[in-house]
Amino acid sequence: MTMTLTEPAAAPGSPPAPPPALTATVRRARDVAAWWRRLGPRVRGEALARWAGVLGRRSPEITAVMRLEGGKSDADATIELLVAVEHLRWAAANAGRVLRDRRVPGTWLLPELRAGLGWQPYGVVGVIGPWNFPVLTPLGSIGSALAAGNAVVFKPSEHSAEVGRLLAETCAEAMRGAPLVQVVGGGAEVGEALVTSGVDKIAFTGSPATAAKVLAAAAPSLTPVAVEAGGKDPAIVLPGADVEAAAASVLWGAMFNSGQTCIGIERAYVCDDVYDPFVRALVVKAARLTVGRDGDLGPMTVPAQLEVVRAHIADALDRGARAVVGGLEAVDPPYVAPTVLIDVPPEALVLREETFGPVLPVVRAADAGDAVARAESSGYGLGAAVYGPPGEARAVAARLSCGMVAVNASLGFAAQPWLPFGGRGRSGSGRMHGEAGLREFALPKSVVARRGRHPLELTTYERGRYALPFAETVLRKVYGGRG
Ligand code: NAD
Repeated sequence: MTMTLTEPAAAPGSPPAPPPALTATVRRARDVAAWWRRLGPRVRGEALARWAGVLGRRSPEITAVMRLEGGKSDADATIELLVAVEHLRWAAANAGRVLRDRRVPGTWLLPELRAGLGWQPYGVVGVIGPWNFPVLTPLGSIGSALAAGNAVVFKPSEHSAEVGRLLAETCAEAMRGAPLVQVVGGGAEVGEALVTSGVDKIAFTGSPATAAKVLAAAAPSLTPVAVEAGGKDPAIVLPGADVEAAAASVLWGAMFNSGQTCIGIERAYVCDDVYDPFVRALVVKAARLTVGRDGDLGPMTVPAQLEVVRAHIADALDRGARAVVGGLEAVDPPYVAPTVLIDVPPEALVLREETFGPVLPVVRAADAGDAVARAESSGYGLGAAVYGPPGEARAVAARLSCGMVAVNASLGFAAQPWLPFGGRGRSGSGRMHGEAGLREFALPKSVVARRGRHPLELTTYERGRYALPFAETVLRKVYGGRG
């Protein structure tokens, strides 16, 4: 179900009241959430598996819209939808296990009580999505939120509105019309209104600057926000790396989806020993890529992003960098051809801010320590990739402060249904996918239940005469006697 919110914004000053149409949408979501929750995890899982089936059956139509609206290449659209459906199927199959009520060990200090842990859905989750992965990214949140028992009000990016509408339509088809995913169409003002509309949680994916606005708008009502923000993911190439394989993997990680990928490789730090052969291999491979509607790299989705890419290349060249593939002339709207920059100084924008285009700066590092120090300097902490002999590469991977890391590979963590997806620092701390993704959309509920009376129980005024001396003895002799 899609609706466009045309009501005028409320007067500036006080937090704007949500438009009546949005209030009605959230109310409908609350009603359907109560029904959905009562169905239980098994029936919900079956319904979500049906949705995955509908997405598979209608994949030619969906990928066609992804291509038309976002400019994706055929391969990029197919890979994105395939991975999204895999995650949905996993959430459908595993929510019952991950979020089941369970007994947990109680404390010996309260022997009269049994302890248990359950999970409750939030109710209504507002999902705000970006344009670059219009299926995979929102579906990561929507699939987990639904599997955990919530209903969703979804605001897709204004640049991927049609894909967003198709997601809701296919969901309704699988749910026999139940409006579990309702779409609200529009830009920033609709996103703002959704944040303050009374939903129980926001799952936001987008840039760090917008994330900060969303967090500020959510603060007065203490609405929780899961933030998946941008990245500046580094690749590190160590001495002893297979440079041909590393160059092929780094290149795909940097150029996939025309570089408009939150976990795209945006910087490569290559140790001195392997720098020259790595750059040679990279240049040969990058020069082979084709650009165009049917090429390896499709058009850029948003004209404004194209200008950011152009500015980053120009800034790097002004500061003394050299383009060994592409360069300023690679920016040929709506396309940007692959660009590889070397001799880039650390203060260049292309090494500090998200470029979000098919541009890869390659920096010479003295050794692994130098590469790690440079990689850690961005303030982002989404993903990373490390190439080298497996033991050494894994050791370097373990040192990096980020949410996800690939060893002798790139981006693959995003397609693993058991692995949580998310970052730290300026990349946000929300999690999608896997068990952590399901728990992002449910709240733990702790339960204790009396199983009888006990002479040493502390939790009534009618405690036995030995209860308090027992507690004092524990404190002084047992706990105080240690450490
Ligand atoms: P954006 O921040 O411009 O917009 C994201 C969404 O927020 C859009 O739907 C937009 O309409 C909405 N929005 C804008 N202003 C708002 C406001 N004040 N209140 C509420 N909502 C508002 O991001 P984008 O350009 O659409 O997407 C690209 C960004 O998303 C990049 O930074 C990329 O790295 C990031 N991203 C992150 C992940 C991840 O999982 N970490 C995944 C994909 C994209």
